[in-house]
Amino acid sequence: MASIAATPFSLKDFVKSFALFELLFGGMRLTGGYTFKRKVTVQYPEEKTPLSPRFRGLHALRRYDNGEERCIACKLCEAVCPAVAITIESDVRDDGQRRTTRYDIDLTKCIFCGFCEESCPVDSIVETQILEYHGEKRGDLYFTKDMLLAVGDRYEQEIAAAKAADAKYR
Ligand code: SF4
Ligand code: SF4
Repeated sequence: MASIAATPFSLKDFVKSFALFELLFGGMRLTGGYTFKRKVTVQYPEEKTPLSPRFRGLHALRRYDNGEERCIACKLCEAVCPAVAITIESDVRDDGQRRTTRYDIDLTKCIFCGFCEESCPVDSIVETQILEYHGEKRGDLYFTKDMLLAVGDRYEQEIAAAKAADAKYR
């Protein structure tokens, strides 16, 4: 017949439990050890940590210095996108150049993998360092060509600087 062994009484453990030994010499010792160490947390959003030039934030479509759209509607980005988030339609202009008539990115599908940027032969579609944006309903994060070009126009300097900083590692 099986018997249940009684837990032996320990006076030492009994006293320690009343003296809050574990709390004071275990938990609080660990907390106290970090009190005067250098802080690694920041007070976001007032304080911000540095971002890598390769940070993959909000998308943008870029132009050349003369205002011409870089995108040549090759559709490589659309083909490579694993989330099927990019939709492109294109046409040939009067001057014989092919350009997109529609370039949409559904950011609710996007997984920010960066494949679209990597695949682009003319550095047109890029992921910027912008991370502070939001949508309050699904449609807010559906970015059309005009919206993407507007992001590119507004942040071209930052985009170009990030590209230049990363160029020597490519
Ligand atoms: S970052 Fe990736 S998932 Fe997002 S649009 Fe580009 S290729 Fe698609
Ligand atoms: S953004 Fe780049 S990869 Fe995508 S269609 Fe335009 S040129 Fe091609």
